[in-house]
Amino acid sequence: MRVNCEGCAGCCVDWRPVAPGSPDHERRGPRRPLDDAYNLVPLTRDEVRGFLDDGLGDALVPRLWHDDAGTATGSVTVDGVDLAALDGRPAFFVGLRTPPKPVAPFDLDRTWLRTCTFLDPETLQCRIHGDERYPAECADYPGHNLVLGVETECERVEATHGDPGERLVDAEPPPGQRGLLLGSHAVGAKVFAYPDPDELTGVIHRLRRGEENPADRARFVAVAAASAPGTLAVDDARREAAREAALAADSWAGRAIDEWTAAAAGPGEPAGEAPTGDEVEVDRGAPRTPGWAAVRAASDADDPANADADAPGPGRQDGRADERDGPAGGNG
Ligand code: SF4
Repeated sequence: MRVNCEGCAGCCVDWRPVAPGSPDHERRGPRRPLDDAYNLVPLTRDEVRGFLDDGLGDALVPRLWHDDAGTATGSVTVDGVDLAALDGRPAFFVGLRTPPKPVAPFDLDRTWLRTCTFLDPETLQCRIHGDERYPAECADYPGHNLVLGVETECERVEATHGDPGERLVDAEPPPGQRGLLLGSHAVGAKVFAYPDPDELTGVIHRLRRGEENPADRARFVAVAAASAPGTLAVDDARREAAREAALAADSWAGRAIDEWTAAAAGPGEPAGEAPTGDEVEVDRGAPRTPGWAAVRAASDADDPANADADAPGPGRQDGRADERDGPAGGNG
């Protein structure tokens, strides 16, 4: 599998405001996310713990789902919303927050679009690519989609801002593609269940409006960190420690999210006068990205035969599946 991510990062950017057809593959079917994020990256329990250990708990956000059809696992109603649930407990992912940033994918001028908090808005490269915190979901994308025969974000981008084969250069899934974490195996490992639905009164209302506060986010992050794979069990002591860690987080990412949010115009609005990623993120401690010239040089050095080929680069391009349709892990 080879992908050409330079000037794209379509899987890390909410590019719906600049897409005539407005792709919204996460909102098909009976379980629609409460939030309006695009391509949220669901994290495993161990990844959530890692972000907390690194003081990055303020970069995390939960995703819950409407239960429009009623499911075998039963829904639960909070704040007047029927929520997808596991044994009467609201089900959720924990993902990465998506603030507005000034970005210029697909040869556009700088535009305010929501992106993953770890995306460098200038290079459109991932600030944590290859590091210990780099999510498996990102490392495995779009390989899983190719294995499952479902559309990749590369192809969605090509349909609107490019030509076939321009982004998904080689559609052969990589050998040894890791298996998806779906269904019952995902419970307590990637899909979590909030044990006390009554505590969520008011919280669900704020999540639906995109107005959740740090305490709202921390309560879900804590349950995820304290979950046990294959069960609905939650360790109370670990939960409280994780909640405190999430609330105490004061990272470059969280502070940058606040500044981007305060500076942003509406989605799809021009961002020519916006501050740079260096000013808002690197100056607060964000890791730099190498830029595409360095990536191409490294790729050429590894394999001189590739010298004229499109070089892969640090983004979500090593593989990731569309398992964002709900707690049962359908595919987009
Ligand atoms: S590749 Fe990096 S920037 Fe893109 S979604 Fe994953 S963590 Fe975020």
